[in-house]
Amino acid sequence: MSCDFCGGSRAASVHSEPRRDGAARTVGTMALGRRYDGAPLIRVDVETETWVDMDVEVGNSLHCSSISAEVEASAYVENARFCPFCGARL
Ligand SMILES: [Zn+2]
Repeated sequence: MSCDFCGGSRAASVHSEPRRDGAARTVGTMALGRRYDGAPLIRVDVETETWVDMDVEVGNSLHCSSISAEVEASAYVENARFCPFCGARL
């Protein structure tokens, strides 16, 4: 038993929250690896966008604007015993 995650590329895309209109989009990847001691380790990388509000005072006038910034976060899932896609034992 294998799948793209556990038998092939060992990576799969992750998506935004599922919605009825099917507008979920790819927001990152998850990949299967090994911890330092050899135990299965799932790494999840999520890319998202955040908005930062800025107030800039020039002379006597205040300018308000917001800029967007791309951020990427990584998290790890330990003690995974089964493939999250096909259920194969890791
Ligand atoms: Zn699998």
